[in-house]
Amino acid sequence: MTHQKTWRWLFLVLLVVILFSPLVYWSTGIGQAATGLSAGVGRGPDGTLISSPKAEALHGLTLPMRIERLLIYPLLLICFQLGGGSLALRRWLDRKAQGRRQAHSVVPYREGPVGRLVPRSWRERLPGPDLLVIFLFVLAIEAVLALLFLPFNYYSGFILAHQFGLSVQTALGWAGDWVKNFLLALIINVPLWTGFYVLMRLMPRRWPILAGVLSLTLSAAMVVVTPVLITPLFYEVRPLDEPDLRDHVLTLADRAGMHVDEVYVVYASVKTTRVNAYFTGFGDARRIVLYDTLLTDYTPDQVEVVLAHEMGHWYYRHMLLGVLAVGVVGWIGLFGLKWLLDHTWRLLGLSGPADVAGLPYVLAVIAAVTTLMLPVYSGLSRYGERQADHFSLVVSQKPEVFIELFERFAVQNLSVVDVPAWEKLVFYTHPPIVERVDMAERFHEQ
Ligand SMILES: [Zn+2]
Repeated sequence: MTHQKTWRWLFLVLLVVILFSPLVYWSTGIGQAATGLSAGVGRGPDGTLISSPKAEALHGLTLPMRIERLLIYPLLLICFQLGGGSLALRRWLDRKAQGRRQAHSVVPYREGPVGRLVPRSWRERLPGPDLLVIFLFVLAIEAVLALLFLPFNYYSGFILAHQFGLSVQTALGWAGDWVKNFLLALIINVPLWTGFYVLMRLMPRRWPILAGVLSLTLSAAMVVVTPVLITPLFYEVRPLDEPDLRDHVLTLADRAGMHVDEVYVVYASVKTTRVNAYFTGFGDARRIVLYDTLLTDYTPDQVEVVLAHEMGHWYYRHMLLGVLAVGVVGWIGLFGLKWLLDHTWRLLGLSGPADVAGLPYVLAVIAAVTTLMLPVYSGLSRYGERQADHFSLVVSQKPEVFIELFERFAVQNLSVVDVPAWEKLVFYTHPPIVERVDMAERFHEQ
């Protein structure tokens, strides 16, 4: 048990780190000095782009924050698991549910019209109070994790964003968004993980098969539902109604031999000064979304180049391919997870592979594997972005506009134009701006 004590200590240290590291970032003074820095992108003697001092300063804070978050999340969970906290929480919930079990003497859904619909073998594998314990355990873990990261998120999403002039949101507005995000995460994740453990209990041997089908279906459904139900919770979303731009879109689509009937605008300027555009969905649910910041600040030619890039994603069906790839990898991962749980539950002191007290361990393993796979994911994503860039250049035939566009993006979004190779490999889902500009220059020369 001395080991347990070490893990507990480590857990406490990590708690302090996650709660107080924003203070450390703040005390560097980098954020406070940001207003005095220039956001202008320069050109070296050989013509290569040079990041602005302001973008460099922001990057100097966001990179360590990104790495911290990536490391601390699985570590915190593992320490909670190995320090015995997870088992203690499940036992405490069990005792509470035990009271209910005695009061009813039979599990709630064994009787009554609903109970008769549930097969007897399932009722025995998952008595009602156990279902309640699973639900409450998942709820507690998800809620506490979100709360632990609150100071961190407040620093990065509000304080830092204001120091660098990237946000125009009020504190109240930010808090409102945080609450919405918090509730959304609970509404999505709690049933998801409860369902996961229910499935493990009901189908101890074959759960990865059904869990794989369900997760693939759910992630596809999320892609379709997000722009329609979730984005409007945070922003006003309207179809693009400027006749000039609409004509532009239709001509472009025509030239590319595709059918794009609607482009959507997200009114983000009430919250952020950043520009953005993206493509999402598949089949008939495919859509191109532009931030209103792009429409107000950029020339029609520049918007056309952006639209052509997003059409590239549409044309190559990137969203569908992405969902399928993640789904297939995730499915294989579920079988790996089953193998791991079957072989390690005893070591962790769990009552079985399907003991919900193993959730922190499961979450930590998934986070660690996802992080290890970042280079593959980022590499594939960069490949898709290069395809879309090339598509944009071919369809719009405006390489010089493409170049000035990305220089403007670097200024407005405070992006560094280039990063070390390792950072690009792991974190960059888009090619660095120097590479994108380089592609356009080479296209121009042809
Ligand atoms: Zn793109």
